Amino acid sequence: MTANEQALANSKAADLSKLTGADQYAFSADVEEWFQVGAFENTLAREKWSSLESRVERQTRSVLQLLDTLSVKGTFFCLGWVAERTPSLIKEIVAAGHELACHGTDHRRLFTLEKAAIKHDIMGAKKLLEDISGTQVLGYRAPSFSLTPEVWWVYELLREAGFAYSSSLYPVKTDHYGMEKAPRGPFYPLGSGILEIPMTVCDTPFGRAPASGGGYFRLLPYSVSKRLLKKGAAQASSPGIFYMHPWEMDLGQPYVAEAPLLSRFRHYQGQAGLPRKLRYLASDFKFVPIKDIYCTLFTQSNNGAGE
Ligand SMILES: [Zn+2]
Repeated sequence: MTANEQALANSKAADLSKLTGADQYAFSADVEEWFQVGAFENTLAREKWSSLESRVERQTRSVLQLLDTLSVKGTFFCLGWVAERTPSLIKEIVAAGHELACHGTDHRRLFTLEKAAIKHDIMGAKKLLEDISGTQVLGYRAPSFSLTPEVWWVYELLREAGFAYSSSLYPVKTDHYGMEKAPRGPFYPLGSGILEIPMTVCDTPFGRAPASGGGYFRLLPYSVSKRLLKKGAAQASSPGIFYMHPWEMDLGQPYVAEAPLLSRFRHYQGQAGLPRKLRYLASDFKFVPIKDIYCTLFTQSNNGAGE
């Protein structure tokens, strides 16, 4: 059995008949600094991070303002690193009516860490976010969708830590991330009680395409992104999920000229058009936080918590 097959062997599909409002889509944002991205990991070393200009507060506020004008509520997966330095931002996110969720401590990919370090990374961030916000954090998203079959036991850890769900898998293969064999609809890995809600993908005549946003949403024409998201959700018979990063629409952020050309393209391309595309998106889809769609499928003591 391959690691992939082993990981999926004990998985159980979620019963989506329990969902209310299945026509809704989930909006999510991963809150991290502009320099904490995979595209710059070989150019901007972690040791340099504290000397770089922090822009996450103003960037996230721009997103909060835009979502407010669009009447969109979403789920904000925040880094512990950000919460520690800008606790007021975490409170603002919650005060604006969004769901607060956890993106780990400092954006290290899970499969690069030892078990104790992963535990520290995830539990530390959850506790910090909960202490600052006074709300229970139910959701987790692994940095760069790095919850791979090699570290599948992380789902047990998430249960122990009191999470109800994870949104850490992208059932597509890209050069940066992805687990093509992962189920496309929500499922319970390892019978752990944690609901995994994978990102949306779309099968096209040209192959499987990521359909949840991120860099692709900036690169592709809006009409194509809209079609992929809608069709991908229909193919998986489950609500589509969209994600973005606050740094993606900050035209004033520093330009990292020494990064490789492809990395710069990935990071900067299409930033100016993002607010316009988000406006279109909000008029075409009904977006809500992840927990609003899925709370009836949460199990154990977390059922209904945070409501
Ligand atoms: Zn991230």
